[in-house]
Amino acid sequence: MAPDSEFAFELRVCQWAERAWEPADGSGAFVARQLGTKHRRWDTVVVECDPDGLRERAKFGAEAFDSDLLHVLRNAPADWTYYRDALPDPGYPWRYVRESIHEAADRDALDTRKRGNRIQIRRVRPYPDWLRRIVAIENKPDLTASAARDLAPQLERDVALSLADEVWVATAATGERVEPVLLTDMPAAAGVLTVDPERGTADEVWQPRSLSVDDPGTRILDRPADDHSAARFEYVDPDWKRERRLAIAERAYERGWRAYADTMRPDCRHFQLRADETGVYPYCAAKERVPRVAECRGACPSYEPEPPAWRSMGWPLDGGPGGAIKRLLDRRRRRQRPGLQE
Ligand code: SF4
Repeated sequence: MAPDSEFAFELRVCQWAERAWEPADGSGAFVARQLGTKHRRWDTVVVECDPDGLRERAKFGAEAFDSDLLHVLRNAPADWTYYRDALPDPGYPWRYVRESIHEAADRDALDTRKRGNRIQIRRVRPYPDWLRRIVAIENKPDLTASAARDLAPQLERDVALSLADEVWVATAATGERVEPVLLTDMPAAAGVLTVDPERGTADEVWQPRSLSVDDPGTRILDRPADDHSAARFEYVDPDWKRERRLAIAERAYERGWRAYADTMRPDCRHFQLRADETGVYPYCAAKERVPRVAECRGACPSYEPEPPAWRSMGWPLDGGPGGAIKRLLDRRRRRQRPGLQE
């Protein structure tokens, strides 16, 4: 079924990436969508990782660790140590570190004990070095000249900051000999994917440059419309980049790209999962298409809760078809994360 919205196209790109993305060096990979920083959200994110490291990461469970928790876990000592002696100065008040220590202990990711008034910590296991590369893909199914003009500065910002290792634009294939996207003003460092959304395939028609994620980045704050005034920018520290990259990878690990079921209404009687050669996708029987995230809500005029009888006729009691859809999507996400309990 041909996608008729950016969301439907985005799911096609995620499905393709999950099926066909091949990291160069034997890394594993998984896919997530709608992740990034406060300033920038990427549509599709491919996280390439060390396969053994990924299995070790799975021992910490499916839930993401934020930057504060990562600071504790990555510096936790092998032997009991007063936490202020074990951890580097976080650059923010120690009371927040104590909160993170308690949260990590509640998640069985850290051992803690009290000696006198002092909290001592000890790692349960080393937090692994599992992240290798982050690939960001911007989805623009219909890349008109004006959409391309809007997109080019965003990609320039991505290239200047170099938070992701590669930046791509994915657009629908037009079948023309020279894809129009190649004739636009895209930065040469960004790659171009042309996607056949009906067959769920993609061609890499322009290779991106690998970005310098370990070097300082440049955040472009303000780019004047005319060429005569200077742009405003600030330098971004490599440590900040390293920390943000791992936090993004952690979020991607938890969410994947099937988390749409958490914000849509799989408990609506019209919500279905359908499958074709491109993969499994959500479908609204009332609208006869892939529902958009913004419309598939309780306020949707066609929303009808699944009848209570559905919850007892052969469906597990905890949720009916809507709950079963969520569990199915969750199982599929877990399959991409080796070592996680089903
Ligand atoms: S009818 Fe509305 S709420 Fe129900 S599945 Fe369709 S879009 Fe979602």
